[in-house]
Amino acid sequence: MKRELITLLLFIILTAGLAGQQHPEQPQLRYDENQSMTWEEAITFYRDLDERYSEATLLEMGMTDAGRPLHLFIISADGESDPEEIRRQGKTIVLINNGIHPGEPEGIDASALFAADLLANKDRMKRYLHSCSVAIIPVYNIGGALTRSRYWRINQNGPEEKGARRNTRFLDLNRDFVKQDSRDARAFAEIYRFLDPDLFLDTHTTNGSDHQFTVTLIATQPEKMHPEMEQFFREKMLKELYGRMKEEHDNEMVPYVQYTDRGEIKAITGFEEHAYYSTGYAALFNSFGFMTETLVYKPYPERVKGTYQFISELVRFASLNNKELLRHRAEANRHTLEAKEFVIDWEQDSTRWDLTEYHGYRYEERTTPITGRRSGFYNHDKPYSDTIRYYNYFNPSLTVTIPEAYIVPFAWEEVIERLTVNGVEMQQLQNDTTLVVETYYIDSYEPARRATQGHYFNSNVKMRTVTQEVDFFRGDYVVPVNQKSKKYIVTMLEPQSASGFFAWNFFDSFLEGQDWYSVWGFESHLKELLDSNPELRKAFEKAKQEDADVASDPVAQLQWLYQNTPVSELEKRTRLYPVGRLMNVGSLLNTVR
Ligand SMILES: [Zn+2]
Repeated sequence: MKRELITLLLFIILTAGLAGQQHPEQPQLRYDENQSMTWEEAITFYRDLDERYSEATLLEMGMTDAGRPLHLFIISADGESDPEEIRRQGKTIVLINNGIHPGEPEGIDASALFAADLLANKDRMKRYLHSCSVAIIPVYNIGGALTRSRYWRINQNGPEEKGARRNTRFLDLNRDFVKQDSRDARAFAEIYRFLDPDLFLDTHTTNGSDHQFTVTLIATQPEKMHPEMEQFFREKMLKELYGRMKEEHDNEMVPYVQYTDRGEIKAITGFEEHAYYSTGYAALFNSFGFMTETLVYKPYPERVKGTYQFISELVRFASLNNKELLRHRAEANRHTLEAKEFVIDWEQDSTRWDLTEYHGYRYEERTTPITGRRSGFYNHDKPYSDTIRYYNYFNPSLTVTIPEAYIVPFAWEEVIERLTVNGVEMQQLQNDTTLVVETYYIDSYEPARRATQGHYFNSNVKMRTVTQEVDFFRGDYVVPVNQKSKKYIVTMLEPQSASGFFAWNFFDSFLEGQDWYSVWGFESHLKELLDSNPELRKAFEKAKQEDADVASDPVAQLQWLYQNTPVSELEKRTRLYPVGRLMNVGSLLNTVR
């Protein structure tokens, strides 16, 4: 039995080896037969395109939690794969990310088909490459893609087999863009820095709604843009993308259907885009970001085609408007460098809306067939069309003044590592130095009761600002803010930011406080102290007269005394957020390297 098993294993290993040496047959796209490509098939597909076309380059970029490298496929008219050079030629760069949730694989197939058609110059598509280069991440969540089953996303209308939502570490990568717990997200950041894409698309499937549309679209939150860019985005880019999907492809899109109440859809609300989502991350670098979310109940071939159509419209737009897109981005980058304030939280404006065409199904109630409960459903036999409100305007709800630099002590290694991965330039203090910095005391916050992404997310942070002298040490990092990753720096280092390091528990240990005192020996020490310090005794007596709590509670008395002894000076570090805000870098320049 054992020997048979070994022979069988040898046979498998040998034949696998042989297959590797021969040229395996080019995998065919079979989305029309309700099949999506596996990760191996996708990589073989792109490798084949890379071998056949001089315009194409397949690169390996960084490692993922699945122990396999993340691939990036670049298409340029002259085969150029150096983004610096592509930009010098005045071309825009579009990055398409697929399979972040491998159970939602239409982008994997649609991008492969698009790349093959573009390279084969189908319908003269190659003309887009005159002023645009296309970069594709074939499959981002490799671990999820390797865990295939027909039962993932059990309500979904195909494909027959699909991958898991979470990666090998059970992380949802569409929450991991800024905190970067996964190697996947760090490899992605490497790609993002390398390409610095002008346009970014992340492809998904939605099960959050039911209506007649196949493609729903999350477009990055326009207010995050510099005003001219916002105007261009709302009035030209979005209008044209929606318009052409309807007119050229007869496939009208709708904004991602996020509704206020379940039931008949009366209005759609804009997507609250945190930086930990893909488009939120893209917005930190002033890219034009999108997520397609095709509807889970539509047949797989239709979802692939819809995603393909949107990709081709995006690339077309990127090509025809290259000069304007590049100008708006350059302007936005300049604006970012000049900004003195930054909005770290937004709230929806309930007084402003646009009107949008909506093609839905009537909402009705029925008794369900198995459990017999009463439940609402969208009746596909009763389609209707209506004009409804789309609330897609946001107002700042929390704005911070941007310091000239932050100081992150050397000790916070995980923070420094992530800043580095995101291209943040830093300098280390050469000497131990006392600096006057703006500091934050965290007065209160609410840790989540259940873990999300392995974190007990901190929210509702209340804090005080105190300007004071703080001792920093040789090796601590000075992070100047006026640099390309400025929005990332501020988003991550401000403790009230919902995407920041404080929210994701990177700094939690400082919240545990300092020495404190032991009750046993403290009273005899206090007696000596009070006997030798009449001023302190007087103040203590006064406190007891004025404060009923102090008068009645021995523990409150000890507490009062502790806070009024010299030792309490050390306790000023209690709840002091470790990152300092340097409002004037000038004097410091000589002490850093
Ligand atoms: Zn998704």
